[in-house]
Amino acid sequence: MKTRGYQWATDVTYTARVPIYFVNCMQLSQDIVILGGGIAGLWLLHRLRAAGFAAVLIEKSALGDGQTIASQGMIHGGLKYALGGTLTGASEAIAGMPAHWQRCLHGEGDVDLRGTRLLSDTYYLWPRSSVRSRMTAFLGSKLVSSKARAVADADVPDFFRGHLNGPLYRLHDIVLDVPSLLHTLGEGCRPWIYRADCRLEHDANGNVSALVLPDGRRLSAGLFICTSGNGNAVWLDTLQPIAATMQQRPLQMVVVKHRMTAPIYVHCVADNFSATPELTITSHPCRDGSTAWYLGGELAERGATMQPAELIDATRRKLAAMFPWCDFTNAHFHSFFINRADARQSDGKRPDRDSVVSQGNVLYCWPTKLTLAPALAQSVISAIAARGLQPAGDNSVTIDGLPYPGVAETVWDTL
Ligand SMILES: Cc1cc2nc3c(=O)[nH]c(=O)nc-3n(C[C@H](O)[C@H](O)[C@H](O)COP(=O)(O)OP(=O)(O)OC[C@H]3O[C@@H](n4cnc5c(N)ncnc54)[C@H](O)[C@@H]3O)c2cc1C
Repeated sequence: MKTRGYQWATDVTYTARVPIYFVNCMQLSQDIVILGGGIAGLWLLHRLRAAGFAAVLIEKSALGDGQTIASQGMIHGGLKYALGGTLTGASEAIAGMPAHWQRCLHGEGDVDLRGTRLLSDTYYLWPRSSVRSRMTAFLGSKLVSSKARAVADADVPDFFRGHLNGPLYRLHDIVLDVPSLLHTLGEGCRPWIYRADCRLEHDANGNVSALVLPDGRRLSAGLFICTSGNGNAVWLDTLQPIAATMQQRPLQMVVVKHRMTAPIYVHCVADNFSATPELTITSHPCRDGSTAWYLGGELAERGATMQPAELIDATRRKLAAMFPWCDFTNAHFHSFFINRADARQSDGKRPDRDSVVSQGNVLYCWPTKLTLAPALAQSVISAIAARGLQPAGDNSVTIDGLPYPGVAETVWDTL
């Protein structure tokens, strides 16, 4: 017989000095087990617990220890996907997300994010000189005019004040402090989040019979949900589902640590008017009192094929040309490689939206963007409803003996 929580395999009434073979036979049970505590798993855990499911999350190392802690924290409405001149499927799917997150930040959404630190409630778009007229026409068009506004002189942020000789646009996008986001989500469901490096027991069809914990206890569930980001590759290798495959899109990100105080959150739009901004800059406070500029966009995509020294050299030259009023003499430049993980696309490009692939009693999930975590959770809730899976009873049972994982460290605080 299986019940939730601990279940002795035999009728053992004593608890002291338990023989190891009894410990290994212990059987635990939950409605749903989530594998991976990045933004996808954490958001989902909140939704499932709120719906009454006995759901737990197992994290291998630390919360967000993959793409989420490495992300720039931008919650965007998709305008950057429209820079090529048209609204794509991606820009439409993502359009409502900033408002959704704002409701959550105010405690009025599907997940309570009060306590999460907002780094900026605005994002800027800065066209380089030769694209200005085209950009002005594009941003003024009906397609995007509700999403971007030219900034009045009086409202130009400190960083750019006195240095602009063309327009700057303001987007309705926000930037979150990701460690505080992970902390808020983790603490909100702390009793049901555990650190453990586990393996899956399964049949030949890829159905999971149990998650085996490091001490040998077996955790069974009606549904296993893989939200391990790049780590989903391990579950795919193990279970060999026919329906689900993954792709990785590599980046080499640059971190510039310096002592400039005015923060900056801006997409710099290149002369080639490409669909990806030439440079995407976010500013992050570091524990040692310095500021980290975190550089993504085309620079990081092209950087994926470059040697670190070559990319850092190119970045120094680019920043000096773009921001001649800034002094980078004492700044420290670092770079690191990281893969974005998504459901595989036939053209290898970024999927337009979140992805949930269902096979047997497993769901394989990728949000595609931090921004799309709420959409992914909704897709999973719909998939669960389609299966007719209902909360099966006592959702208060916890798993003893496993630690809370804590939140991963940002790259800039480890440098
Ligand atoms: C450099 C960079 C910048 C980005 N910037 C943005 C941005 O500004 N805005 C935006 O919307 N999107 C951004 N993204 C995309 C966004 O970060 C990702 O889409 C999102 O974080 C993916 O979340 P996830 O939970 O699926 O995966 P992850 O965040 O990678 O989380 C997976 C978790 O699973 C755990 N795990 C792995 N293996 C196992 C296992 N075997 N068992 C248990 N747990 C396991 C990991 O430790 C990790 O905690 C960025 C991505 C990158 C790489």
